[in-house]
Amino acid sequence: MSYFVAASLTVAYTRFDGGVAFIWGATAILLADLVVRPRSEWPLPLAMCFVAGGAATACFGLGIVASLPFAVVNVAEAALGALLLRRFVSHCCHFESLPEIIAFFAIVGLAVPSLLGGAAGLIVHVITSGPILSNWLHFATGHALGAVTFTPLLMLARGGDVAGWTRKARPADGMEAVILALLVGSATLIVFSQTWLPLLFLPFLPMMVAVFRLGRLGAAASIVILTVLAIAATLDGTGPIGLIAGDDGLKAQFLQFYLTVAVLTILPAAAELRRRKQLFNSLQEASALSRLILDRTGDIIMRLDVDGTIRYVSPSLLAIAGYRPEDMLGQLPHTMIHEEDVPEVVRVHRLALAAPNDTFIVEYRARRGDGSLGWFETHTRATIDEQGTPTGVVSILREITRRKELENALTKDSLTDPLTSLANRRAFDLALDRQIAFTDKEQRAGCLAMFDLDHFKSVNDRFGHVSGDAVLRAFSNLLQSTLRTSDLVARYGGEEFVAILDGATVEQAELVCERVRANFAAAACRAEDGRVIRATVSVGIASITPGTTADQLLRIADQALYDAKANGRNRLVLAA
Ligand code: GH3
Ligand code: MG
Ligand code: MG
Repeated sequence: MSYFVAASLTVAYTRFDGGVAFIWGATAILLADLVVRPRSEWPLPLAMCFVAGGAATACFGLGIVASLPFAVVNVAEAALGALLLRRFVSHCCHFESLPEIIAFFAIVGLAVPSLLGGAAGLIVHVITSGPILSNWLHFATGHALGAVTFTPLLMLARGGDVAGWTRKARPADGMEAVILALLVGSATLIVFSQTWLPLLFLPFLPMMVAVFRLGRLGAAASIVILTVLAIAATLDGTGPIGLIAGDDGLKAQFLQFYLTVAVLTILPAAAELRRRKQLFNSLQEASALSRLILDRTGDIIMRLDVDGTIRYVSPSLLAIAGYRPEDMLGQLPHTMIHEEDVPEVVRVHRLALAAPNDTFIVEYRARRGDGSLGWFETHTRATIDEQGTPTGVVSILREITRRKELENALTKDSLTDPLTSLANRRAFDLALDRQIAFTDKEQRAGCLAMFDLDHFKSVNDRFGHVSGDAVLRAFSNLLQSTLRTSDLVARYGGEEFVAILDGATVEQAELVCERVRANFAAAACRAEDGRVIRATVSVGIASITPGTTADQLLRIADQALYDAKANGRNRLVLAA
């Protein structure tokens, strides 16, 4: 019915030269309906509009002969438009983004009317032998204008946007909408009810206010108000369009141009405004979320400038480290960090700035507000501007003092011999590798000494295992007290001990090991039962020379030790 009324009105009032109508709003009604309707339900509205369109043409337009082909063209226009919109825009056009609006214009305002305008021109030519080209043009512009001005509001209504707004709107919003509609209507009437002042752009003012206050709906509704009133007044012979010197066709085309400019101004403005509103809302949400996280987190979050100046630090700094966040702003974190760890923290800060895609982790000691030292771990990542240039870093700091203490304790246990508290074999192997690396790099001399208690099995057999342990401890003490603190002493296994004599020549090593041997032989340990235990030790010494591996070195020292045993024990042999 509405299709028939729209079609009839336009056909009856806007055919200026006996050809096609100059403005065609009926397609918008069918188009907005087809876009949201499932394809299986299309036949009924298509058939109804076919009949309505045909009737309108028959009653008010080119007559009964033209009614059939025109009905086909008009219905095909809506169907093709709906198909293309569904394919390239979305199931229902919401006019939310500029690309969506451009695609809408390209389909509904250009491609489809131009295509079917050709068919309309031909039909008019065949029936009335009117000019093809001008009818083509009139059809295309008239249909484009009708679709472009009426479809947005109808689509927003069919897509549920109008219903959504009505549901959410408070009475005050409704009042505002009515007032804005009245304002747009009044401004249009002021412009189009007189012929002496061409104030054509006056309605744009309240239309823009409607866009700002009511968004897409305000835009679409004010376009419809402007279009209906402007067309009605112009048809009535009033308004500034009458000032144009030319025939009715020219005037109608100018009116179309004017209304198209209005649509092209208002709709994109509404879309852009909506985009910014959404951006603002998501920013608000993000900042509320980050404030919540920052207030509740058990970590400290910091933002530093490129030069390391603190720009932000979360409130958790006070509870975790005992500093007031506001006191730290504008400061460098160095004041809190242990001086030995500052270079590493600075190095990691620079690394993060150099590789903004990576997160860097650094562990360091820092002084709390009460002066106590704690271990902290920082995860750092650079922030960049739109050109990709680093603007600073964001860091998450976590106190790891407890973990560090546990780690240190575990490391100590794994490297220490429980009986003698000397370094164990694992610690010794690590130290020997390090010593060899130094020797290769810095030509630093040193010796490896290997000790093995003599006939220790029989010590155990005679005095018992507990007394044997006491002898092992006594030897370990003697070894430690005789060697320098810079020498690494380790229990290599059972009753075997090793020492790295850092920087010692073979002569120096021989001297000090000989002292160990002699002192041990002279010492007397007491067994559990008070008996005196006399024990001796044999020693093999090898020089740590560049290019020798740890295995080779141990084998050489072991060979020397074997020679000492073979030569009667309680003696010292230098490796050949
Ligand atoms: P040699 O002079 O040839 O070195 O004779 P040895 O008996 O010392 O050599 P052997 O390797 O045959 O025996 C080592 C003994 O050391 C065997 C073991 O009972 C004893 N031993 C190894 N570890 C411990 C320990 O932790 N405590 C005690 N009490 N004895 C140990
Ligand atoms: Mg042994
Ligand atoms: Mg032994």
